[in-house]
Amino acid sequence: MAKRDYYEVLGVSRDASQDEIKKAYRKLAMQYHPDRNPGNKEAEEKFKEAAEAYEVLSNAEKRAKYDRFGHGGLKGGQDFHGFDNVNDIFSHFSDIFGGAFGGSSIFDDFFGGTSSRRSQRRSTGTPGSDIKINLKLTLEEIARGTTKKIKLKKYIKCDACGGSGAKAGTGHKTCTVCNGSGEIRQVSKSIFGQFVNITTCNNCGGSGKIVAEPCVKCSGDGRVYGETTIKVNVPAGVHEGSYMTLRGEGNAGKNGGPAGDIIVVFQEQPHEYFTREGDDVIYELTISFPEAVLGTEVEVPTLTGRAKLKIEPGIQPGKFLRMREKGIQHLNSHGAGDQLVRINIHVPKKVNAKEKELLKELLNMPNIKVDN
Ligand SMILES: [Zn+2]
Ligand SMILES: [Zn+2]
Repeated sequence: MAKRDYYEVLGVSRDASQDEIKKAYRKLAMQYHPDRNPGNKEAEEKFKEAAEAYEVLSNAEKRAKYDRFGHGGLKGGQDFHGFDNVNDIFSHFSDIFGGAFGGSSIFDDFFGGTSSRRSQRRSTGTPGSDIKINLKLTLEEIARGTTKKIKLKKYIKCDACGGSGAKAGTGHKTCTVCNGSGEIRQVSKSIFGQFVNITTCNNCGGSGKIVAEPCVKCSGDGRVYGETTIKVNVPAGVHEGSYMTLRGEGNAGKNGGPAGDIIVVFQEQPHEYFTREGDDVIYELTISFPEAVLGTEVEVPTLTGRAKLKIEPGIQPGKFLRMREKGIQHLNSHGAGDQLVRINIHVPKKVNAKEKELLKELLNMPNIKVDN
């Protein structure tokens, strides 16, 4: 069969930008993703075809060769993979399929719950499910990063049988439901002809084998439910709703199937003093009228402890003072945001006789008086 033009495969023009190419590929990959089209050979072929086209067109050098010489200009294995297996595609384009930290990848949104299934095709057992955890963080923890220990309950690989589900010393036997093929074929007839529907065998999870004698500890599941503690290294600068994926730390699979992931979603707790503004934090500072006029030095809280702040004479209300790098560390680059201190001036609601007298005296002083 003649190979289709790569631009045609992705449905983009010959002068498409890298961004357009990436977008077009993501769209196709989602449409023909094997998880959405189980057993559909045509979809799988389209999925592979799109991956190959993307591999070439996303690389400036390969794209240039292809533009000049067409398919003949590219060497298999060196210039493109000719993917045989959809899993190769996932691992090859991990930048697109992988959990781009920060939750920006549309693939993660889309395949959020199925990420662990990507790598288990053709392996034994049933994959474990993902676990989502909401992790509350204070601004202080976010500012400089932290390590959190979280207790949770999940399926853990059975240590007695190593996850296989087979009693020690016993092996596996051929699945009696699918006779070892791992697939169930159902033929149905209609006026349009005969259809064959192929699904994964439920009894063996597609492996074609079942345990001969179940492990006593896990009753043949290969996993047990129990409490465990995980450690999460939270990088500085995360945001409300951003998340990180701990690959393979979710529920253990059944009968040796791959484990799911843990998805840790960060939640930012409101702070007593600070309001976050990107990576800056805002602090409201109230000083007295004489302090504003004369200048002063005050101690203010910061995310990393108290710090001194000098206030010049004549500071105006509403003015911001910047405390450099006292904010939140940037997530993906060096440095940190600032702490912005907004100056407020205290106006007393009540004064005593002595204060009243002094203020009246001040009232007509040349620099105090306001002419309206
Ligand atoms: Zn066991
Ligand atoms: Zn079976």
